[in-house]
Amino acid sequence: MEDVLIIGGGVIGLSLAYELAGEGLSVRVLERAEPGREASWAGAGILPPPASIEPPSLARLMDMSWRLHAVWHEQLRGLCGIDNGYRRTGGLYLASESAEVPDVLAQAAAWQRSGTAAEVLDPAELLRKEPGLQGGWASQAPAALWVPDEAQLRNPWHMKALRAACQARGVLLSPWLAAEGFLVRRGRVQGVDTPAGRINTGAVCIAGGAWSQGIAARLGLELRVRPVRGQIVLLDPGQPLLRRIVNVGRRYLVPRAEGRVLVGSTEEEAGFDNRTTAAGISGLLEFALRLVPQLAQARVEASWAGLRPASADGLPYLGAVPELQNAYVAAGHHRNGLLLSPATAVVMSRIIRGVPPEVDLTPFRVDR
Ligand SMILES: Cc1cc2nc3c(=O)[nH]c(=O)nc-3n(C[C@H](O)[C@H](O)[C@H](O)COP(=O)(O)OP(=O)(O)OC[C@H]3O[C@@H](n4cnc5c(N)ncnc54)[C@H](O)[C@@H]3O)c2cc1C
Repeated sequence: MEDVLIIGGGVIGLSLAYELAGEGLSVRVLERAEPGREASWAGAGILPPPASIEPPSLARLMDMSWRLHAVWHEQLRGLCGIDNGYRRTGGLYLASESAEVPDVLAQAAAWQRSGTAAEVLDPAELLRKEPGLQGGWASQAPAALWVPDEAQLRNPWHMKALRAACQARGVLLSPWLAAEGFLVRRGRVQGVDTPAGRINTGAVCIAGGAWSQGIAARLGLELRVRPVRGQIVLLDPGQPLLRRIVNVGRRYLVPRAEGRVLVGSTEEEAGFDNRTTAAGISGLLEFALRLVPQLAQARVEASWAGLRPASADGLPYLGAVPELQNAYVAAGHHRNGLLLSPATAVVMSRIIRGVPPEVDLTPFRVDR
């Protein structure tokens, strides 16, 4: 019997397994399909630097996570020889119309208050910083911001690295095995039911991404997590056209080192339907071509969609399940799950081990 059974093998579940195993606990991850193939595979991998935002606990988690990514990048590479693609390429933030200028300036102020560099650029400086935007509408953007510490990682590489690192630390990964129910006795989860029978455990943590509400309901716990679909198109122009991440509102271009450009993303209420749509893809292509007209000749390499786990108030659920001594939740990270994954793993590992976490987790209470 393992000390901890984690339900869900996405970036949250695998990061937590990696951290707990590093602290000497025996861990098993139940994943109903292939580990790391849902939202955590589909995401863009943008890691924005620390900002002064509300609540302060979220700002602290983001700060901690942003720093840990640089550390984990080296650790994972050392442990299993896989590069997760972590690079500090810097990010640009553009307003597409004057109504968006106050938002961009407020974002700059939030970064500056926390000591993160965020520089307002004029059109000439913008094109010097990112020559790939020449000829597109960016030179007419009413506001532009340069954030040199914005980083990125490559989700499929990161998931592969995490999986290998978990195995190197002795985590038992059980793919294609779904958690279907719980055996609760005397205030403790004794076992988790699967199609292959009951698995006894010392503790359980729900990290089921967009599916967490349904899993938690079987424990009698009411979580409010819903799927929010995001579509992405991958373009291959055959040569590098861009160097920086370019963010405009909720959409972005993420250039990869070899030249591919990831164009994201939509935000749709489509239930658990994770297909791409003509409207979603055409909207993303139009956005990309307006910004970088040279992308018109790029090959469309792939498109996909993923389901972000969104909570009702936008904050993740991190903590213990009330009235049970050994059940926990780490879910609902919405648009920031990749960014928040290492800090989530560290604070949840402490809670599960009975050590007070370094961040006040009150805003993320499971029974809020
Ligand atoms: C298009 C898109 C772009 C994004 N871009 C970014 C970004 O740039 N930066 C960022 O920080 N975040 C980004 N995100 C958000 C981020 O991807 C998510 O917040 C994060 O992946 C959530 O991780 P998770 O482990 O909670 O969920 P998931 O990756 O969905 O993992 C949950 C896992 O639980 C499994 N599961 C479900 N039910 C059961 C069960 N009953 N038994 C066993 N297993 C079960 C699922 O199969 C799944 O593998 C993006 C998301 C999308 C979709």
